[in-house]
Amino acid sequence: MKDWRRAHDHRKQDFAPTLLDFGAVQFFLARHFGFCYGVENAIEISYRALEENKGRNVYLLSQMIHNQEVNADLQSRGIKFITDTDGTQFIPWENLGEDDVVIIPAFGTTLEIEKFLLDKNVEVQKYNTTCPFVEKVWARAEKLGKEDYTIIIHGKPKHEETRATFSHSASGGASVVVQDMDDAKQLAHYVTGEKTAAEFYEEFQGRFSKDFNPENDLKRVGVVNQTTMLATETQAIADFFKQTMIEKYGESNLKDHFADTRDTLCYATNDNQDSTYELLKTDADLAVVVGGYNSSNTSHIVELCERNFPTYFINSEREIQTSGEIHHFNYHQKKKETSFNFLPQKEPVKIVLTSGASCPDTLVDRVMLKLLGYFPNSKTTEEVLSAF
Ligand code: SF4
Repeated sequence: MKDWRRAHDHRKQDFAPTLLDFGAVQFFLARHFGFCYGVENAIEISYRALEENKGRNVYLLSQMIHNQEVNADLQSRGIKFITDTDGTQFIPWENLGEDDVVIIPAFGTTLEIEKFLLDKNVEVQKYNTTCPFVEKVWARAEKLGKEDYTIIIHGKPKHEETRATFSHSASGGASVVVQDMDDAKQLAHYVTGEKTAAEFYEEFQGRFSKDFNPENDLKRVGVVNQTTMLATETQAIADFFKQTMIEKYGESNLKDHFADTRDTLCYATNDNQDSTYELLKTDADLAVVVGGYNSSNTSHIVELCERNFPTYFINSEREIQTSGEIHHFNYHQKKKETSFNFLPQKEPVKIVLTSGASCPDTLVDRVMLKLLGYFPNSKTTEEVLSAF
């Protein structure tokens, strides 16, 4: 299906979903979903690293991508994770030696970790899978730093990519991380002087660069973001700081206080989110979003789908227990839930189906096939796909 859509719309102008009409059930399949360039590249390099280094320890700094199945497969082939997603150490750093190979994941890593490994003569560059779209954010941050702007990073503070971006950004300029609009509003209180420096150090603890001085470092700001944030939220945060600077310094002085740059979302995030907006225009009964529960980009697709549909965020078809019971992840509360009677008693049942950038397409296939199994009178996949 993806190949067919690509061939018929190679300039990516049509973000409308594909309707797969099985009769008793219909699927609205997102125009863009699943693996992005960065993830495909990282997986390919990881398997190559294993192949080329038989008999050596091959480590991954943290999860390759936020997908349980892919990570489990890599582990079963011998890759060892040094830390987990939030930085918890699995393998002590002192265990690493110069015969070992370390793969840097698509999110990139901090300068501190990179230096530590290089100092130990560990091979890190050969299998560095840092996505070029993440490096683009670092380059933007560097440019802002050189122009003496403080870099406001819109991202999830604990996410590997944001930690890596913060490290690179902080090496070139004053930097601070905001997680969402509420955080941005709090930070603005230090721009306007409504709150004190002491309050800043407490409120933004662990999220500002060394020697950050809120009284001096919030006079000129620019915004970059984690590549997988919600586009509209980053835009709103950038607009908010722009307005804050206009109010404080006047419109004519804006350039001296605010770097008006575009967001640093990657193409995959944009394509997946634009496709999700098109899904919202359908009259579906429910949405099923497939992806890792710690995946940032998937959580934003879920957030969008929730605006219009009962939405079930699942990491594999195994979460669908029966036609009447589904286990799914509530990412707001970060916990698993069970819902009953999730498939309405009507015909046709209309289901939005999509996945995040770290989800293999086979998982989406398996979810669709499992759901199809609850509609015994539906057309076969061959019949439906023959139209494409
Ligand atoms: S989601 Fe974007 S930035 Fe992240 S790996 Fe994929 S293409 Fe690269």
